[in-house]
Amino acid sequence: MKTYQGSRVFEGYALGKLAVYKQEKVEKSFGLGPEKEFERFKKARSETVQALDASFMETLAKLGEKEAALFETHKLMAEDLDFEDAVKAELENNVTAEFATQSAGAQLADMFASMDDAYMKERANDVREVSSRIISFLKKDSSGFIIKEPSIIICDDLPSSELMKIDRKLILGIVFVKGGTNSHVSILTRMLEIPSICGIDGFEVTKELEGEYAILDANKAQLLIGPESHIVTDYAKLKNQYEENKLKLQAFKGKPTISKDGKKLEIYSNIASSFEVENAIKNDSEGIGLFRSEFIYLDNSTYPSEEEQFEHYKRVVEAMAPRQVIIRTLDIGADKKIDYFDLPEEDNPALGFRSIRICKARPQIFLTQLQALYRASYYGNLAIMVPMIISLSEINFIKEMAKQARDNLKARGLLYKEDVKIGIMVETPSAAILSDIFAREVDFFSIGTNDLTQYTLALDRVNPNLTAQFNPRHRSVTRLINIICENAHKAGIPVGICGELARDEELLPFFVKIGIDELSVSPAYTLALRERISKIDTNEVDISKFI
Ligand code: PEP
Ligand code: MG
Repeated sequence: MKTYQGSRVFEGYALGKLAVYKQEKVEKSFGLGPEKEFERFKKARSETVQALDASFMETLAKLGEKEAALFETHKLMAEDLDFEDAVKAELENNVTAEFATQSAGAQLADMFASMDDAYMKERANDVREVSSRIISFLKKDSSGFIIKEPSIIICDDLPSSELMKIDRKLILGIVFVKGGTNSHVSILTRMLEIPSICGIDGFEVTKELEGEYAILDANKAQLLIGPESHIVTDYAKLKNQYEENKLKLQAFKGKPTISKDGKKLEIYSNIASSFEVENAIKNDSEGIGLFRSEFIYLDNSTYPSEEEQFEHYKRVVEAMAPRQVIIRTLDIGADKKIDYFDLPEEDNPALGFRSIRICKARPQIFLTQLQALYRASYYGNLAIMVPMIISLSEINFIKEMAKQARDNLKARGLLYKEDVKIGIMVETPSAAILSDIFAREVDFFSIGTNDLTQYTLALDRVNPNLTAQFNPRHRSVTRLINIICENAHKAGIPVGICGELARDEELLPFFVKIGIDELSVSPAYTLALRERISKIDTNEVDISKFI
């Protein structure tokens, strides 16, 4: 058995044969001459437009108008005159219409990809998809991808139109080897609730994989090819349990999160992209407790502009309103490296130049982000959260920068809210120890248990040799959590937990007992946590062993 790690698109399990979707690259070759090849292009384009009309209707029926609208955009792109001119120019080199369409599509896609505006950037994939559809018609291979039995689709990437054509019952899961979590097809996959993962480094999709037995564990974002029979049996059980549970949990939708003895708290969601907000809403999340904004930077080849960031933040804030959306400011460095930041090589990156430290050294980057955040605040209930805080001077710096961001927006005549809440992540021992002082200076705390564990135990969170010792339930950590919670409440501010520990079954009674106000977890865990909390009676919880 071979195990491959990717990133989750939508949770769940799938067991079955692999079905390979692979689009071959068109090799350069001579055609019938520019005029005849252009006629071939036009014919294939009109067939594409017809097929796009059909995809529009299929998606409208399955998912609704908003999701179907994309195919209207694709139609406009297919008929776009700039695209047509680019194909004509390529045909002057006497190449085939297939090659000219591929080259023209790649040129336009590159142009879109280099744009500042997030919406335009996303259009790069659409252009690629439209040109590959025209190429399929040119090759007379328009029937597309055919699956005969329920399978796990494996592909580099899959055009949205192909996905919508396949009967949902035949798709057990999808592995997008090169895709990203934010691509349009990933969004549709989530809407269709298909267990799926993306982004497996160094994996090559070959026709030889067709029919191989595999297990897709989208919860762990893993693909297991050629599993042994006992692993298949274990996973079959896990999948059944998971699905039965999921069904039962639906009863908790629309209900408050409340313990057996009446203690109320809220379950928020952690998201890493603005598109994941749909998942949070679907799972009845009461807010967003951690939007890891650095993924907007990680998905870019250069600094994302204020406008681009604003669009991402606004999308989440608007969709969640009136519920709260806590957006964490840039948290890069350590294990999250971005080339264009040109960060120095360091001996101890986890203790190095990261997060707020970068923002202080390069304030313009921080200011751009704060301006985007304040602009988005106008559209709902946004709160700003800053990671890796260790001292009061950093909190003062944040406040000064926030004021400057508001002043700049005012001078530019832009809309924003004056009273956006500013909170900090308590994820360093320093912030935990000084939490009584910090609580008087900020509007809320959110405990980052992943880093708090790393720094309290002095154990590198990404070192595979230390996994067994990396114990976030360590008494030193739970004791700190208790101190942070007490100090927050003494100062009258709310405190949440947004690290992985927030969904820890063993510690859940402790969190409810000490009065944690909000737990922020992956959207998929929202209802499960609500169910577990409903069974907790805090009168029966003895916290002495945790503090
Ligand atoms: C944490 O440290 O607990 C946290 C939520 O942030 P991240 O995992 O992104 O460092
Ligand atoms: Mg952290």
